[in-house]
Parts: sequence; structure tokens; C-alpha cells
Amino acid sequence: MQNQFAFTNKKQVVSITRKRLQTLLSAFLCATVVTAYVSSAIAKNIADTKKVYQMVFSASLDPKSGQAHASVTLKQHRQLVRSIEFVMPKDRYLNIQSTSPIEINGDRIIWRPFKKGDTLHFDFIIDHQRSNGSMDARITNTWALLKLDNLFPTSTSRVVKGAASETSLILNAPKPWSIETPYGSGAGRVFVIDNSRRNFDSPRGWVIAGELGVRRENKDGRHISVAAPLGSGLRANDVLAFLRWTLPSLVEVLPDTPQRLLIVSGDRDMWRGGLSGAGSLYLHSDRPLISGNRTSPLLHEVFHVASGLHSKAGADWIIEGLAEYYSLTLLMRSDGISRVRYNKSFETLARWSANTPCTATDRSKGKQTAHGALIMRALDAEIRSETDEKASLDTLVQKLVRADEDLTNASFRASITEITGVPVRALTNCP
Ligand SMILES: [Zn+2]
Repeated sequence: MQNQFAFTNKKQVVSITRKRLQTLLSAFLCATVVTAYVSSAIAKNIADTKKVYQMVFSASLDPKSGQAHASVTLKQHRQLVRSIEFVMPKDRYLNIQSTSPIEINGDRIIWRPFKKGDTLHFDFIIDHQRSNGSMDARITNTWALLKLDNLFPTSTSRVVKGAASETSLILNAPKPWSIETPYGSGAGRVFVIDNSRRNFDSPRGWVIAGELGVRRENKDGRHISVAAPLGSGLRANDVLAFLRWTLPSLVEVLPDTPQRLLIVSGDRDMWRGGLSGAGSLYLHSDRPLISGNRTSPLLHEVFHVASGLHSKAGADWIIEGLAEYYSLTLLMRSDGISRVRYNKSFETLARWSANTPCTATDRSKGKQTAHGALIMRALDAEIRSETDEKASLDTLVQKLVRADEDLTNASFRASITEITGVPVRALTNCP
């Protein structure tokens, strides 16, 4: 027997995303007659309803095989979608099948669905080990924890100009299991999350299923769920209390903080840190809500989720520096720590990260992130001083979130100068 939770659209099926697609590659595509109306870009403009197609992402979690038996179904009344390219490395995606043509090119699968649509089936290996040996996705006989972003692979669609998708998700699990996702839980009606800041082709964020302990709270209209396998040791009530207390300060900086937040944890063998996802985050049960140096691992990850900021080309130290800075600053603003202890925390970070250079990196951690937090503090002071307190680091963060682009070292610097009107002193020794 299976528990089936349909994340439905409109009346019965709640749509995860309603996406509108428009041409970005027109210059290239106009080179051929057939593809002159095809695009692979996503926009949010409302389209002709005749140009709406349905995408259904479906998966059954199977503890016996350690796999999710998954499918992607396209329904269209005419050929709106020409092809979808998925990135599906062989070590995790097996038995890829469809009755319509599939072209396999290394890890890239190009699926050309029939005129009225079709289904692509595949199996996904759930267990995944990080380079340090600990697991960041796992299925056992009693629970499963994984990211929807991985279960349903990254994809690029080639569609008729102006076509739009309505996307839904259906998850199945063994009978006694419950399921929690960033889009809602299996218990009763599941509501829509239309990600207004980031378009995406497929469901994203953490999902946990199994025999779970789940605690829920609301704060100022935002719904928070904390879910972990029974007996995992996660202090769900502490997490909820901490978030009820700090969330207002976060929302002041990031007014578009998602309406739903899911916090998940696994057992003690899992990765002993925090990992953010869309509308959700993973936190190991051993992680304190507030560390010895007063930074908060939970607030750090919540900042990642709420800001949705991403980087490329060596700018990860900015993303991590911001999250670390705000993990301290939001605690101080919500009166969790005094300004005296707040200042001492930065002194501790400064001592710990002394002699750490500010260099470009795609994976900031430890001392480099601590150093990044110090730079963010200096930037806040500089922006306030250059603008006579009319702007601050909060203003900069809001500007970056609105831009909705992968951050680079150059774009970060340019955004600051747009606010202050002068070259940035706090970044003198940074890339
Ligand atoms: Zn981080």
C-alpha cells in the first residue's frame, strides 16, 4: 500500500509553479524556420491559456531498493514543448525510459515528447555521501530524507514562444509514512507555492518522509514546520520558539521571506551541519541554535533560504559572509544578545580569522566565512556613513535580492557603489 499525496493544481491539484516562458534565444533560434518560435527561457508574463501545458513530477519512495521510482509527465494539447534536456549522471539516475525519443549524450538526456505529451520514467538512487564521508540524502526502512532538486534533475526546456507550464508534484511512500515538503504536508490539503523570485522547472527543496515527529507553528502569517524521524533527537520545540522570536527581525530585512519554511533533520549519522534549500533547510540535531561565539547555525541557514542569494565566479565568500553576519545581527536585533556581547562576538571572529585573506572562492567555510562576516560589518558602517544613515547593508541585501541574479565579485562591488556613489573602501583587499 502506498500513501499518495498529490500537490495539486487549481481545485484538486495544487500547482507548485505556474510558469510563463518567453524567448531569450531568439537570435540563435531564428536561424532555422522550425525553431524560430522555440525558446528555452522562463518568464512570468501571463500567456495565452491555449499555450499552457502541464508538467507532473511524480515519485514513489522505495526503502527496499533504496530508490525513488520517478517520472516526469508532459501533457499538452499541441506541440508546445519540443524537447527537455535533463542532467542525469549515471551514478544516480537509472533505467531512463520513455516511448517518445530519448537522446543520451553522456550525463545529458534530451527527451523529445510526442505531440500530445508523454512520460519519462527513471529510478533515482537516494543515498548520497558527501566528500567527507557523511550522508546528505538517505533512505532507511522507516524514513527518507533528500532534496527534490536532486530527485528531479536540472532541466532546460525548448518550448513555443509564449508557452507556459503548470507544474505539480505527486509523492508516494509506504503506507505508515507521512511526507513533508516545502509545498506542504501530506496531511490534508496542500497549498501552492508560486516562487515569485526564482522560476524553476521542477520541484525544489528538502523532502522528508517516514515515521516522523512533526511540530508546526505560525508566526505573523508564516507557517513553520519542523520534521525529523521519530527519536532523532532534534529539539523541534526549541527550533520553533527560536524562529518565532527571530523571524520578525529577519522579515524586516527580507520582506519576501517565504510564507512556508520547512526544517528537517535526519539521524545522527547524517551530515553534521546545516544545508539550505528552496523554502526549507536541513539541520543536524547536534547543532546548537546559538554557537559558543554567538553565531547561529539555524539563522545562518534561514538567511540563505529567505534571501535566495546565489553566487558564481568565486563570490561564495559574499553569500556566506552575509549569512554569518546576519546570523549574529538578527540575534542582536531581536534582543537575543546584547550589543556588548554582539561586539565581543565580532572580536572573537576577528581573532579567529586573523591573517585570513579575502580571496575569491566557490566554497567559503570556516575562517573565510568569519572574515566575510567582518567585511559585511565594515560595509554596513561604510554604507551608513556615506549615505548619512539613509542606507545600510540591509538596503544592499534588498537590492541584491530584487536583482535576482547570481552574484559575482564585480556585481557586488557595483551594487554598493550604486548606493553610496563612491568606490568601496571595505573591499580594498577583496576580489
Ligand atoms: Zn552558509
